[in-house]
Amino acid sequence: MCISINLMYCRRWPILPNNRAFKVLVCLLLVGVSALASAADSTIANVVQASAAQPSAAQPVTAKESIIHPDQAFASAWQDLQTLSDDAMQGRKTATAGAELARVYLRQRFAELQLQGQPYDWPFQYGVGFSERRGINLVGYRQGCGRPDFYIIVTAHYDHLGGAGRRIMNGADDNASGVAGLLYLAALTEQRCPFYSIIFLATDAEEAGLYGAKAFVKTPPVPASQWVLNINLDMIGRGERRNKLVVAGTKKLPFLQGITERRHSNVRLVAAHDSKQLMRGQHTIDWPNASDHAPFRKAGIPYLYFGVDVHPHYHTPDDDWSRISPQFYQEALLWIADVFWWVQQIPAEQWRQGQASSR
Ligand SMILES: [Zn+2]
Repeated sequence: MCISINLMYCRRWPILPNNRAFKVLVCLLLVGVSALASAADSTIANVVQASAAQPSAAQPVTAKESIIHPDQAFASAWQDLQTLSDDAMQGRKTATAGAELARVYLRQRFAELQLQGQPYDWPFQYGVGFSERRGINLVGYRQGCGRPDFYIIVTAHYDHLGGAGRRIMNGADDNASGVAGLLYLAALTEQRCPFYSIIFLATDAEEAGLYGAKAFVKTPPVPASQWVLNINLDMIGRGERRNKLVVAGTKKLPFLQGITERRHSNVRLVAAHDSKQLMRGQHTIDWPNASDHAPFRKAGIPYLYFGVDVHPHYHTPDDDWSRISPQFYQEALLWIADVFWWVQQIPAEQWRQGQASSR
């Protein structure tokens, strides 16, 4: 009851008075209520173990009648993107009140989407220099209907950089866009049962060095031997002049050829970013290690990393949702959803064979 009431407040932030102090006050109240609610819940480890113990009846993917209209699903994603990149979140820097506000919102969205694994928190520690720091991943889970004993792990980092001087770095593209995309996929799986079980992992401390994804790979809720694929969403909101969304990770997986020709769209899906790239003769971007797919890649797990090229507002206080084209973002989500359902049809054995070559 409290959770659903809180969610209504949070999701209507964009229409609340544009007063940051008021929003923060509302959210701090939510933090307290959420902490109480969380304490009463079980951990995802229990949920995953319990569901893994169930007999895995091999059923075909069930395409239930979709209740969510595509436009409705997009409207939700757009609202998630705006809320997560609101000034009230203070740039979502790891271990700040702004990051906790983001988690309050995400826990409530996970619960609303009926993901298993409450209270979703997976704290971890990491070292920077001589100091020990703490981050918190959020992990939700949906059981599959075909091979529930195998898992696709969808990742998107919710942390960002906090502020620059007096200005807040809202990180709308980096990476409110990816987290809203993760919630979009979670919403789709509420209506249609995926073939594989899906772990929805919103990572923390990506900006500091992919620490959330590293922690997940190091101490996962289910053994890595049961993972078939990582789908990583990081900066999927800005196609810029070329209207281009990039997917990386296909080069060494021949059975994924044709992935970019599956849809006719004014947004082009381009297979690229599979190796280091020299940018305008200035600096090199190490795409295979640039985001949360890297720890999965190093563990030999096939990955698909959806993102866009670096743009002028990358890691600046100008990365705001007002600079994201809803038309581009909707098409990007449709592309990602199409690929998400398509990869469900690839047999687990084929993914396993692809493991060695995807490092
Ligand atoms: Zn970033």
